[in-house]
Amino acid sequence: MKSSLKDLSISLKKYFGFNSFKEPQEQIIQSLLNKNNVFVLMPTGGGKSLCYQLPALISEGTAIVVSPLIALMKNQVDAVRGISSNDGVAHVLNSSLNKTEVKKVKDDISMGITKLLYVAPESLTKEEYVDFFKTINISFFAIDEAHCISEWGHDFRPEYRNLRHIIEKIGNAPVIALTATATPKVQDDIQKTLGMTNAKVFKSSFNRPNLFYEIRPKVNPEKQIIKYIKENPGKSGIIYCLSRKKVEELAELLKVNGINALPYHAGLDAKSRALHQDKFLMEEVDVICATIAFGMGIDKPDVRFVFHYDIPKSLESYYQETGRAGRDGGEGHCIAFYDYKDIEKLEKFLAAKPVSEREIGMQLLQEVVGYAETSMSRRKYLLHYFGEEFDENHGLGSKMDDNSLNPKNMINVSEEMKQMLIIVEKTQE
Ligand code: ADP
Ligand code: MG
Repeated sequence: MKSSLKDLSISLKKYFGFNSFKEPQEQIIQSLLNKNNVFVLMPTGGGKSLCYQLPALISEGTAIVVSPLIALMKNQVDAVRGISSNDGVAHVLNSSLNKTEVKKVKDDISMGITKLLYVAPESLTKEEYVDFFKTINISFFAIDEAHCISEWGHDFRPEYRNLRHIIEKIGNAPVIALTATATPKVQDDIQKTLGMTNAKVFKSSFNRPNLFYEIRPKVNPEKQIIKYIKENPGKSGIIYCLSRKKVEELAELLKVNGINALPYHAGLDAKSRALHQDKFLMEEVDVICATIAFGMGIDKPDVRFVFHYDIPKSLESYYQETGRAGRDGGEGHCIAFYDYKDIEKLEKFLAAKPVSEREIGMQLLQEVVGYAETSMSRRKYLLHYFGEEFDENHGLGSKMDDNSLNPKNMINVSEEMKQMLIIVEKTQE
């Protein structure tokens, strides 16, 4: 079915209540409706879901959406049901359904009511489902969080690697793969593994001009954090730490210092986690100290600062985690503490891993070191890592990082040279 651009705008208004598309949603949707394979790279919050939800709603047949997290799938299904008069319009198929529920899902699909079917990758591979999928009309496949397919991504899921095989078994329908993880390596891996090197590629800029990037030496980080928060009262922020223990300690220390803070990590029971998250979202608490367990799918628009108490293990993670600041377009201060000793700690963790994982981990770490130690624009460094060129003199956000604001002056440089000479002399002794 070919839709005119006008039809698409009408459907956008009708189903989602939005007046206009975000760039480049419309071209993506058009391209998919024209039966192309499509590859979408768009930062978090860019509006990727709509790129498959809208075409699914206006196409014949059912779109099969593969997504890694049951919680995220449920959210999406609820959201889609909310915009339709029929609950059958979207379903989740996973191992938690009983026989009657599975039958209801299958019936709705067979009757053509269901436009979006969310499946976990491990359910898609089940033989009984594959046999069923062969018998139905599929509009297209959408692979959300497609970076899960790649060991170079930050969230590798081995089950994703079978997807191509399964999709080919089920039949031929176009595939749209979507991710916010943008390194050229990951992109290449996704396209090859999904057999879509011919895909139309839509890549948005990953530049977040309103975020200020800063690296600080890790000297008395607690003191620096407390000082910062006291100087920015009432602002919302996240402090990422590597370990649960540090999360607990830091939250406690902040509280003792009169700061409204709570911990969040996977070691807390589900109830406390939900409670702490809600309090942060409802602004009953200003600061959340967290491990990386915190943040997936969290949409608080006015997070004003993100600290990394410990340097993260890849620039991907750093970009994702800092990306939670300034979602509303307002200021967002991203400060990471850097001490080479922390890199060595991370290397030690890696030493226990299988070879391939270790090698990838080491390379990712080297990029983190490069970022932390560079004297060039941090934004330029980050964007270059994501395969994007950035003009550090005129680009949007060009003065929004420590290095650009205070270029290392000649005195410092000659000081650095002196240090290097001393080291050289020593090694020659
Ligand atoms: P992503 O998956 O890329 O992180 P989402 O699909 O979750 O992003 O969308 C992020 C937000 O943007 C959602 O709140 C969504 O409703 C909103 N959004 C998407 N498309 C539009 C649009 N065309 N106009 C206004 N808001 C939009
Ligand atoms: Mg998404």
